[in-house]
Amino acid sequence: MAYARVVTLIAVAISVERTDAIGRALDSARLAKSQGADLVEWRVDSLAQEPSGAGGIARLVQESPMPCIVTVRDESQGGAFSGSDDERQAAWSAASSAKPSAAYVDVELATIRSRSVLGDSVREMARIAGQSGMDAPRVILSFHDLAGRPSGLSSRVAEIWNEPVGTIAKVVWTARTARDNIEAFELLATRVKPTIALCMGEHGLMSRVLAPKFGGFLTYARSDEQGTAPGQPTTAELQSDWGFRSIDARTRIYGVLGSPVAHSRSPATHNGWFRQAKVNARLFAIEVAPSWESFKATLGELLAYAPLDFSGASITMPHKAHAIRFVQESGGVITGGARRIGAANTIARLSDGTLIADNTDAGAFVDALGETSGRETASRAMDGKRALVLGAGGAARAAAYGIANAGAKVVIVNRTADRATRIAAEFSKASGGSDLDVSASELAKLSGQHFDFIVNCTSVGMEGGPLPDGNPLPEGIVIDQRTAVLDAVYLPAQTPFLKYAKSRGARVVEGSQMFIAQARAQFAIWTGSPPSTAKQSR
Ligand code: NAP
Repeated sequence: MAYARVVTLIAVAISVERTDAIGRALDSARLAKSQGADLVEWRVDSLAQEPSGAGGIARLVQESPMPCIVTVRDESQGGAFSGSDDERQAAWSAASSAKPSAAYVDVELATIRSRSVLGDSVREMARIAGQSGMDAPRVILSFHDLAGRPSGLSSRVAEIWNEPVGTIAKVVWTARTARDNIEAFELLATRVKPTIALCMGEHGLMSRVLAPKFGGFLTYARSDEQGTAPGQPTTAELQSDWGFRSIDARTRIYGVLGSPVAHSRSPATHNGWFRQAKVNARLFAIEVAPSWESFKATLGELLAYAPLDFSGASITMPHKAHAIRFVQESGGVITGGARRIGAANTIARLSDGTLIADNTDAGAFVDALGETSGRETASRAMDGKRALVLGAGGAARAAAYGIANAGAKVVIVNRTADRATRIAAEFSKASGGSDLDVSASELAKLSGQHFDFIVNCTSVGMEGGPLPDGNPLPEGIVIDQRTAVLDAVYLPAQTPFLKYAKSRGARVVEGSQMFIAQARAQFAIWTGSPPSTAKQSR
């Protein structure tokens, strides 16, 4: 059935365990309302089992600053209610008889199927609500699976849709991967009555934020640290970070794909720029297990589900080489730089569906270093200069390629010398008509030498890394005010390497500047123009 544009509501979920917590709960609801929530869900699993619980529930409903949902969630569905049928009925009755009544009562399908007396109560509630002009709660008929995707998901949803007592259908499960969100979207797209379809947990954020894109009846937000289900954003986050009210069917979706990716700065950075440039798009952190198979399956599904409008991705560890393979296998275009580096950090989908794989890390090293020289263009700053690249992993390959391609003579040094030698051999071999001046060396042999640029691409100095207090550059290499140094490591901002270089008078570039430079280039690839200033990132 085709639906007209639906305004998806924000329901703030607040647990109220005891009568003495009611005042605080009402304050939280008022705050959530001021932040833009439309509804409050009173989760009264424990309160309903208190001797004066029904009176407390009546007060919550009566004094609720917004229309409310009353929910007594059963233990079997992840809640805390293990009381009697009488207690449950008393809670529903308090929700119904308050003036005004609760707008909705959330009832589990399993509860009305397994307890005939409760089924009768709910049918009576639905009959009264169906009479015109009645101030009575409507029934949200729900199903929850905390353990994961339930088997027979679509037949369970059909069962809920077909049950006449439910005005709203609700299905919530814990996502195993980002791909579960697509199933939630598909349920919303094929709904036969107003439906809530959400995924819990770290993989489920897309389903919560993108409910308006697919016409979901509502999404839940948390009011405080706890929330009532894992993965709920706050009302304020939905509004200010995600621009929830302006998400619609045409919103384009991007992702940062990696593992681990939860703490990536890419969503805040790109979403800030999308907002600033009034681009109707959102970028999500999408955790993808390290294997090629996981990457292929996840990106493949995101791209294949056309209603999602998945338009591009930022690719991070450990998938940069997988990105090249994916685009190659799908007949897309790999830029010369990405091909030579052997890694892509950016995928863009053109309007005709063609995929492009590019590497903006390489240019970002040049841009971020060039900024320290005051030259008109970053690459001018490199021409004929000497650069030392420490490391031989993915970042080092991009740095060596970018800096050498901008005209500098690059020397690579790595703990495992063979890896540096291999990169030098690969890059210095003429290819595409241009030789790059890249050689490998050992630190001991470079003692007393001066380089115009020194770039750390090892993970030495990284918080939580192998040597957080380490400096990858021992004494011996000359560092002074003629030197510009960049540390790809961005946590902490001031690494031991940067502190040391600064103490010698060098100009220093933090890893976060390099991060912003590569993100700006990605943004330009996706939208056609760079973000207006680097300062808008958060
Ligand atoms: P990678 O492929 O794992 O390479 C790690 C490099 O560090 C290798 O060369 C490795 O040497 C070296 N290394 C590790 N432990 C060492 C130690 N104890 N002593 C000396 N060398 C050591 O990682 P990557 O992707 O290239 O990333 C490297 C760093 O750059 C990471 O901290 C990453 O967060 C950062 N990065 C930042 C940005 C940004 O936007 N700012 C972008 C990309 C990467 P071996 O070959 O001997 O193992």
